[in-house]
Amino acid sequence: MSTTTKYIFVTGGVTSSLGKGIVSASLANLLQARGHTATIQKLDPYINVDPGTLNPYEHGECFVTEDGAETDLDLGHYERFLNTPTSQENNVTTGKIYQSVIEKERKGAYLGKTVQVIPHITNEIKDHIQLLGKKGTFDFVITEIGGTVGDIESLPFVEAIRQLNWELPNNVLFIHLTLIPYLSATGELKTKPTQHSVKTLLEYGVQPDILVCRTEHPLNEDIKVKIARFCNVDKEAVIESINAETIYDVPLLMQSEKLDQVVLNHFGMSTDQEPDLSKWKNFLNNHKNPNQKVEIGLIGKYVELKDSYKSIVESIIHAGAKNRTQVAIKWIHSEDINDKNVSDTLANLSGVIVAPGFGERGIEGKIIAIKYVRENNIPFLGICLGMQCAVVEFARNVLGYSDAHSTEINPKTPSAVIDMMAEQKTIENMGGTMRLGSYPCEIKEDSKVHEIYNCKTITERHRHRFEFNNAFIDEFNNNGMTTSGINPDNNLVEIIELNNHPWFVGVQFHPEYKSTVINPHPLFVNFISATTKTNKNQETLVNDQHA
Ligand code: GLN
Repeated sequence: MSTTTKYIFVTGGVTSSLGKGIVSASLANLLQARGHTATIQKLDPYINVDPGTLNPYEHGECFVTEDGAETDLDLGHYERFLNTPTSQENNVTTGKIYQSVIEKERKGAYLGKTVQVIPHITNEIKDHIQLLGKKGTFDFVITEIGGTVGDIESLPFVEAIRQLNWELPNNVLFIHLTLIPYLSATGELKTKPTQHSVKTLLEYGVQPDILVCRTEHPLNEDIKVKIARFCNVDKEAVIESINAETIYDVPLLMQSEKLDQVVLNHFGMSTDQEPDLSKWKNFLNNHKNPNQKVEIGLIGKYVELKDSYKSIVESIIHAGAKNRTQVAIKWIHSEDINDKNVSDTLANLSGVIVAPGFGERGIEGKIIAIKYVRENNIPFLGICLGMQCAVVEFARNVLGYSDAHSTEINPKTPSAVIDMMAEQKTIENMGGTMRLGSYPCEIKEDSKVHEIYNCKTITERHRHRFEFNNAFIDEFNNNGMTTSGINPDNNLVEIIELNNHPWFVGVQFHPEYKSTVINPHPLFVNFISATTKTNKNQETLVNDQHA
């Protein structure tokens, strides 16, 4: 085990969307499986301080850490692959760097100097990179630089890592992720874009040590030798990254290409201990060899952009594997649901999830869907806004408050069953001011969720401004909707469930942020298990590959 933290920087070339996050997470996973400690950090070149204020259409899901940072969705992958939480320091944007430098300048911290990109911005970046290493708990800090090499906006980050290579001799390694396109007309893999991308990096003073080459066809020895020769790396350091059936195959693919060994050799570290991937392989086996199949609906308003619900989809995959069940997702746009088509849309589904969200669009469709699943005994999981819609639906259709609503949607409703928290009412800034991060919740005994979690106190992560209005709490509890999870510090309702329903749970928090490959989330596991018991369009699958 190393005593000095090693820093691994992952840059991308040729095009975006090559999967730097998954390759970084896979490498970290392999190092962890060899007994090392590793964490992964994402540097994002955009000017937003964090992605919390970004529309999901711009940026996909906003992932929330235990300590309440609103971050890039890649951090979700890091946690799912490593089974360890990330924190504020794991996601740094240009906006955050400039904000911090400008605050220091206003305080006079630069003693009258002209504040410049180099050294002040680059120093700030280097400090943020090393914050994780200085904690002393990680053998490896893997830092993924967002964007593509050559972009104007990522230049200060590349310059900062160039400098760190000199400041931390023998403790830095550069991985460049690139694309080897295939020309079907000539039947050839082409290396030129990679050569150019490495040349661009060299212009900035960074020589990659390892090239991870995304490709749709295997790289033969000749191609590897050619890439190695043109790009000044060892042939062993040219790693093929072929398209995978699932992202969860990538650690094994990287292992067979010896990525972890090349990294350890670079640092002069032992490769004697083979990675222990038994739990990972067990998950993959369950995932790939299900015994049965169910279909569930995922109702949201960004369904055309599936990245908006990344963590929910991955949680379903983890829970599906745990139940040896293949879960097909029917993506349902909440704006498309009305009283007339709700039955056709939902009747054949074995379960329904209503997703988190903000604002009015699509709200009535969600409420109509929830009425249908409540009355037709279809398993239901409502997450954050999904839980709030379940409360509104119950108030309208069971308690008889026909005008019930959340004040987010109708600020003037006389029956505000979901209302803004008192401390939120005076907030003016939108960024980073929601109820964010991990909070405790006490679970009532004899409730469904008590059975599911099998404990009394849980912690879950939040991201919202509105809450169940406790003025209505007795009416709900006396009429069949139990408030089964309560925050012990401020009495906020965190979980609701129906008493006379096979499986109907709404949670104010986001369980999807905590599900990992090794630790699938109990709520999702139990929900998928319930969907297998509805006897709807279920298929039993025959496979002879059981482990
Ligand atoms: N818009 C709701 C609120 O702010 C729910 C947020 C969410 O679903 N994440 O409370």
